Amino acid sequence: MANAFENALRQIDRAAEAAHMQGEFLELLHYPMREVRVNIPVHMDNGSLRIFEGYRIQHNNWRGPFKGGIRYHQNVDINEVKALATWMTMKTAVVGIPMGGGKGGVTVNPKELSVGELERLTRGWTSSMKGIIGPELDVPAPDVNTTPQEMDWVASEFGHPAVVTGKTISAGGSLGRGTATADGAFEVFETLKGKLFPNGGPQTVVVQGFGNAGRIFAVIMHKKGYKVIAVSDSRGGIFNPEGLDIAALESHKDSTGGVQDFAGAKNISNEELLALDCDLLVPAAMENQFTATNVEAIKAKVIFEIANGPTTPEADDVFVRKNIPVVPDILVNAGGVTVSYFEWEQNMTNEKWTEEVVAEKMKKIMIDSANEVWARKEKYGVDLRRAAFILALERLEAAKK
Ligand code: NAD
Repeated sequence: MANAFENALRQIDRAAEAAHMQGEFLELLHYPMREVRVNIPVHMDNGSLRIFEGYRIQHNNWRGPFKGGIRYHQNVDINEVKALATWMTMKTAVVGIPMGGGKGGVTVNPKELSVGELERLTRGWTSSMKGIIGPELDVPAPDVNTTPQEMDWVASEFGHPAVVTGKTISAGGSLGRGTATADGAFEVFETLKGKLFPNGGPQTVVVQGFGNAGRIFAVIMHKKGYKVIAVSDSRGGIFNPEGLDIAALESHKDSTGGVQDFAGAKNISNEELLALDCDLLVPAAMENQFTATNVEAIKAKVIFEIANGPTTPEADDVFVRKNIPVVPDILVNAGGVTVSYFEWEQNMTNEKWTEEVVAEKMKKIMIDSANEVWARKEKYGVDLRRAAFILALERLEAAKK
C-alpha cells in the first residue's frame, strides 16, 4: 500500500514547487516535531492482560497547539498517523484557525472490545500521554471509530475538558460538533458548486463510507434534493440509479449494522461503487482509495474528499489529465476541526455558544477558505489540491517568521 506519509510530503513539495516557494520552513515541515509511541496495558473482561500499541504524532505548532483526532483501527501504524498529523497542520492553516497539527491512534479493532475494555483502553492511552497532551499543548478529537464517548473518557482521565474536543454536550462539548464535518463540507460544496459544474448540476452523488462524516453528508445532500445513488461501508455498498431513501437507509444501517441488503437497491462492491458514473463522488472512509491501479476506471465528474488522504499523488496526476477536479480533504473536511476549535475556545473561556452562533461562524470560515483556495488555483494555474496546500504554506511560512 502506498505510504500515506510520503504522499503527504509529496503534496507539500508539489505545491511549493508550483508557487516557487523556498526556505527552511519547507524542510522543517517534512519532520513531525515529536513522535510518541506507547504500549498500553489493558485488563480484558476475561481477566487476561493485553498490550495495545498507541501513538501521538505532534507534527507542527507554529500556529497554535497541536490539534487532531485519535483513530482506533486494526491497520493503524505510525506512517499513517504521521500523514494524518501532517494533513492536520495543513488543514488548520487552510481555515486559518490558531491551531497546529497532530494525530493519535491505537492499533485495535474496537468492534472486538466491550464498552468496559474500550474505556480502560482510552483511559490507558490518556494516562500514557500525560505531559504530551494538554489544553495549551495538544488537543485531540474523534476520528475513525472514536466517538464523543471516548472523548469524555479522555477529558475525565486527564481532568480538564479543554484537553480534548468532540465531547458530549454534558461533558463540555460544543453544539454543532457532531455534524460539523459534513456541514462544513456542504458549505464548501455550495460555495464552489457553480465553478465545479459550470453547465449546471450536479444531480447524482455517490458516498463511500457511512460513518460520522459520510452518513451525515448523505443525509444533507438527500434533504437538499440531490440524488444519492450509492453508498458503502466496510462490508460493501448498495446502488439504486433512481436514488436511495437515505432516512430509511439510516434505520436499516442502525438495525442491521451495515448498508447492504437494503430494499430496492442492488448490492455492489466498494470497487464497483468507486467506478460508478456519477456527478459527485465523495470518499468518506479511509486513505488511498484512488491509486494508480484504479484511477483510470473512475467516471465521476468531480471528486469531493471528505476522507483524509483518499487520493495518491499518482491518481491526482490522472485526475488532472482527465480534467476531473478533486476538491481536497484539507479544505472539504475542515469544518470538523473548525468547530473543535470553537469547542476548545468555549471550554477555555467558560462560555456556551448557541447552535446558531456556531453554525454562522463555521459557515463564514468555510466560505472564505473555499474562495481563498479557488483564488490560489486561478493565480497559479494549478489544481485545487496544490492551491489548498499553497494557501496553507503561505500561512505557515508567515507564522514561522
Ligand atoms: P467513522 O468510523 O465514523 O466512519 C467510517 C466509515 O467508513 C464507516 O461507515 C466504515 O464502515 C466505512 N469504511 C471503512 N473502511 C471502508 C472501506 N474500505 N470501504 C468503504 N467504507 C469503509 O469515521 P469518520 O469520522 O466518518 O471518518 C471518515 C473519514 O473522514 C476519515 O478519513 C476521517 O479521517 C475523515 N474525517 C472525519 C472527521 C470527523 O469529524 N469525523 C473530520 C475530518 C475528517
